[in-house]
Amino acid sequence: METYSSLINKQKSFFKTEKTKNLNYRIEALQKLRNAIKNNEKTLMEALRTDLNKSEFDAYTSEIGFVLEELRFTIKHLRSWAAPKKVKTPVTHIGSNSYIYPEPYGVALIIAPWNYPFQLAVAPLIGAIAAGNCAIIKPSELTPKTSEVLETLIKEIFPEEYIAVVQGGVETSQALLNEQLDYIFFTGSVPVGKIIMEAAAKHLTPVTLELGGKSPCIVHEDANLRLAAKRIAWGKFTNAGQTCIAPDYLYVHKSIKDVFLQQFKETTLELYGKEPLKNPDFTRIVNERHFNRLSSFLDNGQLFMGGNTDKERLTIEPTVLTDITWEESIMQDEIFGPLLPVLEYDDLSEVIEGIHRHPKPLALYIFSENNNIQEEVLNKVSFGGGCVNDTVYHFVSPYLPFGGVGTSGIGAYHGKGNFDTFSHQKSVLKQTTKFDIPFRYPNIKNGLEKI
Ligand code: NAD
Repeated sequence: METYSSLINKQKSFFKTEKTKNLNYRIEALQKLRNAIKNNEKTLMEALRTDLNKSEFDAYTSEIGFVLEELRFTIKHLRSWAAPKKVKTPVTHIGSNSYIYPEPYGVALIIAPWNYPFQLAVAPLIGAIAAGNCAIIKPSELTPKTSEVLETLIKEIFPEEYIAVVQGGVETSQALLNEQLDYIFFTGSVPVGKIIMEAAAKHLTPVTLELGGKSPCIVHEDANLRLAAKRIAWGKFTNAGQTCIAPDYLYVHKSIKDVFLQQFKETTLELYGKEPLKNPDFTRIVNERHFNRLSSFLDNGQLFMGGNTDKERLTIEPTVLTDITWEESIMQDEIFGPLLPVLEYDDLSEVIEGIHRHPKPLALYIFSENNNIQEEVLNKVSFGGGCVNDTVYHFVSPYLPFGGVGTSGIGAYHGKGNFDTFSHQKSVLKQTTKFDIPFRYPNIKNGLEKI
């Protein structure tokens, strides 16, 4: 197995020069990254088309545009985020002041998945650079073209002792994890998340784990059904359902199920065409293994819409399956494809109990016009993050730290959360030397000691 100690040592030595801590250096690096992305927009779009058949629209909105916005926001706020912050001091500490100094960890490893192969590699890199770290990115081996463009782009603007891209699959990832790193940021599946945490434990390396799971979407009886249909269809079928925070399954109130599903069908056809398999812009399934896995669910419950597949082009129509119970195979793991199973309920308590019997979801969506219903779900169910009357949109706000809870992840990023993730918050008390209060010392009975 190849070792990466020489690369990591080079980065450690470079980190020790303190260059990466300089704020101008960090801002220049972020600007360089922004310019390089803008200059390579077309090449990136072509790569995303090759790897996943992403349309230009999807490639821009969910990958390139997202990253450019994160860069703009970070560059604008970095000086204030990075400045030491004065905080309150208790009266028992009279004479002193308290501060929090954000400081970089050192060398950060970023391991990325294939579903948004550019965004999920570069967004954490922005946090790593902003906080003053060196970084190594291990992009996904399942999207080779995008990973190659990313490597070329990074090599053009950064020396490898500062930022490097290492290509490869599981073995490469594990060889990197064998090294002593200062931070590990991983996005991917729950089982691999466990492997990452185990490897990190050997060196007590801090981690962020951005994982997955089954994210429920609830449509209550009083929901605005037309908007719910549109927002759920988009959140589910964008990127052919290969989105970690896509609504994984629907819980629909019995009384509106038929009306809602009819609306949902019409909306989906409007968004993706009457023959989605012929839509040149519908994202494909990443590989045959996942195509076969998804196809095996098509006999679950009753087919309400879709269900056609094209093995040659690895595409699957937006599909809805009804009469689903938690026993079906599609309900055992995260689906990660354009198949939407529908469960129905009479009382909200059934929904809450159903979700509670399973691991904490990465996202949750509730469609209801009633504030009490919304609050009941928000207060009773633990989940990473989510929306009321929308899907996926919380992901793109830089003011909402994004991450999971329980098996859906540890830690969060985006916006200031991204900077904070890659920073250690160093607490510092600056004490006066003008006087010394004796209470803490044994056997000193007189009052203030003048110095
Ligand atoms: P994955 O876990 O298979 O792979 C992710 C990365 O880990 C890849 O770079 C891969 O090379 C590496 N890897 C795979 N097996 C490894 C091993 N045994 N040891 C070390 N490294 C290994 O995930 P994926 O299939 O690329 O992505 C899909 C998963 O990612 C889904 O579960 C999805 O929910 C999750 N995801 C989460 C988020 C989030 O932000 N929370 C975003 C996107 C995807």
